[in-house]
Amino acid sequence: MDNCIFCKIISGDIPSATIYEDDEFKVILDRFPSNVGHALILTKKHYANIFEIDEDVAGRLFKLAVKVSKNMKDVLNLEAMNIVQNNGEMAGQTVHHFHLHLIPRYVGDKVSVKWEQLDLTDEQISEVQSKLKMN
Ligand code: 5GP
Ligand code: ZN
Repeated sequence: MDNCIFCKIISGDIPSATIYEDDEFKVILDRFPSNVGHALILTKKHYANIFEIDEDVAGRLFKLAVKVSKNMKDVLNLEAMNIVQNNGEMAGQTVHHFHLHLIPRYVGDKVSVKWEQLDLTDEQISEVQSKLKMN
């Protein structure tokens, strides 16, 4: 992917503050973090988003997220942690190469991960449930 900034980070053409690397993943510090320690887990292979990523790769990526999170908890004086993963421009994705955000939270920080809540009726919930039900 010639024009992908994360592919360039993976190939080493663009430098990054790497905190972990293996055959499939690279974990880097976000260059414009929401908080100190904000890290990104990148797949080495280019998948644009959740709709393209291989399921097994995603499974291994999340196992790694658990390890990185536990290490962050041990090393940083964090209070909590947000895991964020944006898919598509409307959802806030700016780099279209799959990545998971690990955002450590500290008491009194200014990070906000919030949305307005809808007050759906039971019928509306049932309708969407029947559309989405998977067996
Ligand atoms: P998205 O908005 O696509 O979910 O997240 C992209 C993230 O990549 C942003 O948090 C942004 O700060 C980060 N980012 C963009 N360019 C670079 C870069 O060149 N290096 C690093 N380390 N992070 C970057
Ligand atoms: Zn890429």
